[in-house]
Amino acid sequence: MSPLFLMVVAERREENAEGVYRTMKIAKIKGKGSMLQLQLSDTNDWYVNVVRRLILSDVPTIAIEIVEIQKNDSILYDEVLSHRLGLVPLTTDLKSYRLPSAEEIQTQEYLAQSSCKFTLEAKGPCIVYAKDLKSKDPKVKPAFPDMPLTKLLEGQEIRLEATAVMGVGRTHAKWSPGHTFYRRIPEITIKSSNLACAQVCPTGTLADKGGKLQVTDEKTCILCMACVDVDSGKSVDVKPGTDFLLHVESYGQLESAEIVEKAIEVFNVQLKEFDQLVKQAE
Ligand code: SF4
Repeated sequence: MSPLFLMVVAERREENAEGVYRTMKIAKIKGKGSMLQLQLSDTNDWYVNVVRRLILSDVPTIAIEIVEIQKNDSILYDEVLSHRLGLVPLTTDLKSYRLPSAEEIQTQEYLAQSSCKFTLEAKGPCIVYAKDLKSKDPKVKPAFPDMPLTKLLEGQEIRLEATAVMGVGRTHAKWSPGHTFYRRIPEITIKSSNLACAQVCPTGTLADKGGKLQVTDEKTCILCMACVDVDSGKSVDVKPGTDFLLHVESYGQLESAEIVEKAIEVFNVQLKEFDQLVKQAE
């Protein structure tokens, strides 16, 4: 976990000491490639759901917004090619770029701090890939270079300029940084060692350990209730627990941990703004 991530958590603890928030603990369960799984303790549904929604709608990324096509002989119409370019995930540097101002959005005159220029030139016969997009900033480039964009036949050509702009998923899904969902970690109580419960468990959460029914890992339980149905809950009781599992899968623009950090940061800013508005209204 990055230092910033820990800093965000620490900040919440400090605020809790002042009696503003409850203390929330975050533990990394899995983090492989673009996937991240976190266990959240001492929190509640609304907070975890807000983080989930902020990840989808308010964590900024950069995506192609304006395309100026000089030549397009490919089979794709200009609009379809432009739409395809908009959906190419671009690596995003949150430190160097910021969201555009309302004036920039209105005039479509984006400043260097909120946008990055690309060019694309290709001659057939070839397949045009995302890596053929040449960026003015090496930090902003296609996250998946081998993503095909279109195909050119002999003599066909594409020449275009594109402007990638910082934005948020609330405006368009192309700016969403990833997929996320959460669920409660169940609490499983074994009342009697009925091994039939282990046999019906599809995830191996319940296992036969030396003739005794045991819980291997509650986090793997999918709440299918097959073990409870074996004997109407006489042997095993399963109910939603108090901790949460938050899954985050990045689309490639940001690291998964960075996405969660940013969502919490955005939420803290929004809460402070809300607090100020309430104080002004008093
Ligand atoms: S609810 Fe389903 S997954 Fe969970 S322990 Fe029971 S059988 Fe296994």
